[in-house]
Amino acid sequence: GQARTALVLENLSVRYGALEALVDVSLHVREGEIVSLIGANGAGKSTLLKAIVGQVRPLAGRLVFEQRDLSRVAPELRAGLGIALAPEGRSLFPSLSVEENLMMGFYPRMRRAGVLQLLAPRRETAEAMRGTMEEVTTLFPRLAERLHQPAGTLSGGEGQMLAIGRALMSGPRLLMLDEPSFGLAPQVAREILESLPRLTERGLSILLIEQNARAALQVSDRGYVLVNGRLAAEDSSANLLRRDDIGDAYLGWN
Ligand code: ATP
Repeated sequence: GQARTALVLENLSVRYGALEALVDVSLHVREGEIVSLIGANGAGKSTLLKAIVGQVRPLAGRLVFEQRDLSRVAPELRAGLGIALAPEGRSLFPSLSVEENLMMGFYPRMRRAGVLQLLAPRRETAEAMRGTMEEVTTLFPRLAERLHQPAGTLSGGEGQMLAIGRALMSGPRLLMLDEPSFGLAPQVAREILESLPRLTERGLSILLIEQNARAALQVSDRGYVLVNGRLAAEDSSANLLRRDDIGDAYLGWN
């Protein structure tokens, strides 16, 4: 059957003072889909993610996650709905171990289960946490080998894997990734991007923000091209990869 729509943005606009960071942006992500949002530096990609998690307030437009209008959901409660953001670069707790960082990612699920869980976690909670941690370390075996190492000592690629793993610990239904390949050697970047399709098999939806347009489109189903805060194109990733006009004009392909 037709996959349900996980996330819908309708005519979203965001301003920072006089600067129009996003103008009238509409897009959607279906359940189980990987969607890339691509665009140059300053195009507004991070701003769009911030609007979804509630770090910036849209001037106009609608944000709907699983039929729910997000403007009615306080930012701190959005993670509990199943929205997770794996932020760009290092946002880890450097002195905590890999395992402790992953455990931090589980917190929204304990919160969802009620305050008593925070004081005295039930056995099912501990088991769910171990189970999710096992899924994450199966996805990224390099983390399994480094569970007790301080996060601050990880390589760039391993740190990015941990940032994604920590986001997955919250059991999201929508995972948003901000530049997961940023600053990484091409091969490590590819390793991370190629891990993503495995995550969608059970219905997780992914919104992937990337400057590295080609690499992002190669692992995604559809893509949107953002130019100066406005959508310049949207299509299947296969079609976008073939469109030299877009590559030349906006993405620096040659
Ligand atoms: P990059 O790939 O470089 O991170 P981006 O596509 O994510 O770029 P944004 O970070 O969303 O772009 O920024 C869009 C525009 O809004 C930029 O011109 C940026 O300078 C501006 N901007 C972002 N945050 C703020 C802020 N808090 N105050 C004022 N201007 C901002």
